[in-house]
Amino acid sequence: MKCSLVWFRFDLRLADNPALTAAVERGEPVIPVFVWSPAEEGKWVAGAASRWWLHQSLQSLDAGLRRCGSRLIVRREPTLKTLRELIVRTRADAVFWNRRYEPAIVSRDQTIQKKLQDSGVTVHTFNTALLFEPDTIRTTAGKPFQVFTPFWRTCLKSREPAAPLPAPRRLQGPKRWPVSVPVTALELEPEIDWAGGLRTAWRPGEPGARAALRRFINDGLCGYAADRDRPDVAGTSRLSPHLHFGEIGPRQVWDAMRSGVAGPYLRQLGWREFAHHLLVHFPQTPDQPLRPEYDRFPWRDDGKLLGVWQRGRTGYPIVDAGMRELWTTGWMHNRVRMIVGSFLVKDLLIPWQRGAKWFWDTLVDADLANNTLGWQWTAGCGADAAPFFRLFNPVGQGERFDPEGAYVRRWVPELAEVPARWIHRPWQAPVTVLRDAGIVLGKDYPKPIVDHAAARERALRAFGRMRKR
Ligand SMILES: Cc1cc2nc3c(=O)[nH]c(=O)nc-3n(C[C@H](O)[C@H](O)[C@H](O)COP(=O)(O)OP(=O)(O)OC[C@H]3O[C@@H](n4cnc5c(N)ncnc54)[C@H](O)[C@@H]3O)c2cc1C
Repeated sequence: MKCSLVWFRFDLRLADNPALTAAVERGEPVIPVFVWSPAEEGKWVAGAASRWWLHQSLQSLDAGLRRCGSRLIVRREPTLKTLRELIVRTRADAVFWNRRYEPAIVSRDQTIQKKLQDSGVTVHTFNTALLFEPDTIRTTAGKPFQVFTPFWRTCLKSREPAAPLPAPRRLQGPKRWPVSVPVTALELEPEIDWAGGLRTAWRPGEPGARAALRRFINDGLCGYAADRDRPDVAGTSRLSPHLHFGEIGPRQVWDAMRSGVAGPYLRQLGWREFAHHLLVHFPQTPDQPLRPEYDRFPWRDDGKLLGVWQRGRTGYPIVDAGMRELWTTGWMHNRVRMIVGSFLVKDLLIPWQRGAKWFWDTLVDADLANNTLGWQWTAGCGADAAPFFRLFNPVGQGERFDPEGAYVRRWVPELAEVPARWIHRPWQAPVTVLRDAGIVLGKDYPKPIVDHAAARERALRAFGRMRKR
């Protein structure tokens, strides 16, 4: 009897999974496979927080498959070798997968596809990670977009995304299952258990993703346009890690939100599409600025200051709150990502690539397309980016978007008793205010590591030097 392999990657779900549905529709037994082969991911192999998430998500996928009478075959070997061995053992004659868009993965997948086809196996690949295939959206001149608004307008004018597919109810398995290793054998979880904060904050897996979407539609969607920039309220969907690992697909989100009020939210999904469009058409950008003149920027690659930023000890409360939220939960609010990013790149003049790497290791939603866009946008060197000379003032941003200081109080508890008026600039508070709040600056909480006004002038001078070179 013939059978089909479904190779799971960043599509760790049963619903709206076109590769799985197509394999089921073929009517032969289906063998779901996951292969962990980090060496093939190039230099952007999953960081520590992403590995923690992947471990939980694979267990959840296996449980979902078992409810349908199937199971996940897990392997830890080079992918092509593993797929070939499984094809021989199970007599599979077709392999199904959903496409990924990271440059190293695209070229790895093309090689695998060719080698399998050369050996007589049929390969079927699908898009399920994006609403619009990056290659189908072009300017009128046939070029890739570099500005978001016309990109998104063109997407919205093109074909409506297809309705999501239902999850299969039953999956026909083979008579004899091939050998699998337990998920624990992939050694994705940390040896020293630092993941308590992640466990408290998240429920990885398809059921957790569906619950997060439902919660957001019921409680958050109506207020999204007003609240999405406020880190002190739960105003965003927190779907990013679920979307990254494909526990829910953008078509499912799109389909669930077809009301007028969803426009601002769907626009954010548009930024996700734009990020992937850029990654596909400018594959060098995870490491190099899209605007090449930024290669000449006089950065100051200071490891000590980088460490201070990473630990959330800069003396700027909104920056430190963000960095500590990231360390504890593996996530940071978008507005705060922009503030901490601007601080690193413009106040400290540390190359944006150092920030991108730190985020890559610590974010549960670390995503090559979105992270690259976010950092290049912040540094001013990417597509449709904030101009370099527009620097975020960490005090002004804190006072505007966290007016009562609730976000800072939560993540920087040393400052919990500081009144709202001073919480974003405690170094300017009268001595008596600090004393009443139980704070000695420089001891309980650091003094600012740079003076923002002076740093701003220095950054603008550096920008001017780059333009003259
Ligand atoms: C420096 C920097 C680094 C970033 N790194 C990442 C990253 O590694 N992974 C990641 O998913 N996002 C990244 N972002 C984008 C954004 O911060 C997160 O997607 C968002 O905070 C996730 O929270 P949410 O799901 O509640 O977002 P919501 O506001 O609920 O948005 C819904 C979804 O839209 C997408 N989205 C929202 N904003 C953006 C954006 N600016 N760019 C691309 N997609 C967006 C995400 O998939 C998100 O889940 C980064 C932003 C910056 C400024």
